[in-house]
Amino acid sequence: MFKDIVSNEEAKRFLQNELRMKKSSATYLFNGKRGSNPMEFALAFAKAILCEEAENDFCDVCSSCRRVESGNYPDLHIYGREGSIKIDEVREIIYKASSTSYEGNKRIFILDNIEDLRKEAANALLKSIEEPEEGTFFILLSETLNIIPTILSRSILVNIAKKNMEELGVSKGEYDFFFGNTREIEEYRRRGLDISKEESYREIGALLKEYKEDQDLEVKIRVYRALRDFMGRRVSLDNLDKMYFAQEIAKGLAKSKGFDRTREVAEEMMYCATLLARTPEKLEKLLEMKGYNKFNVNLSLLLKLFFLEI
Ligand SMILES: [Zn+2]
Repeated sequence: MFKDIVSNEEAKRFLQNELRMKKSSATYLFNGKRGSNPMEFALAFAKAILCEEAENDFCDVCSSCRRVESGNYPDLHIYGREGSIKIDEVREIIYKASSTSYEGNKRIFILDNIEDLRKEAANALLKSIEEPEEGTFFILLSETLNIIPTILSRSILVNIAKKNMEELGVSKGEYDFFFGNTREIEEYRRRGLDISKEESYREIGALLKEYKEDQDLEVKIRVYRALRDFMGRRVSLDNLDKMYFAQEIAKGLAKSKGFDRTREVAEEMMYCATLLARTPEKLEKLLEMKGYNKFNVNLSLLLKLFFLEI
């Protein structure tokens, strides 16, 4: 039930009000800043729309709720979890949104990372989300409101905040270790992982390579450690060491089959480093550099410039 999700009281109240209105179709935009977990709310809302038992809520017990939870509900379609939605996936969404649902009444599309959608893909999608067919619900997820204005204006906006330390039940040290990332902290708690192990910055390439294989949080923790090791030593390191570090990140993340989040993870490394640097006068410049990542510049070069500067 909604009350079991700690945090975001206002968003939960809003969503339950929406359910009370018994809309037959709608498009929502769940805006969750970096580190929040809008997917949790999207799935809860999807459950509530489909639930067979609870009124304006979800029960987590009925067959619909359980199938949404296990990812086996045929009329719930999730796209974009691993990065931006491709144009052929958009075509698939348009086709599915206009054909009959399996269970006969409602179908839900959760589209993640909507801010990364290319213009042509967004335009193709527009007609489907503008006026969804009877029984069709779109839940779009985005880290920013800097998205195609027509999509923004057609959606019902729901803001999702990061959970705070108390809501997550962790210490400040633990919270800061994960840069306040809700999803990672919850997984860290659930799995009882260890964040105390030291890691040398020189291992960053090997660690990222390993992370790329299965994207496991346990390895991510070691990546965070290696990054912290670098940031802690950076004043005493010479330019060659810094270039080595940048080079290793680029090498570790080099594109390979089944992994297309190279730029995303590289950007995350720069973002975390910026937070760790804590020098306000440098922050702006670093963020500006980080922004170049969007324009397909040579990643290895960008990382070198960035880590030399930091
Ligand atoms: Zn239910």
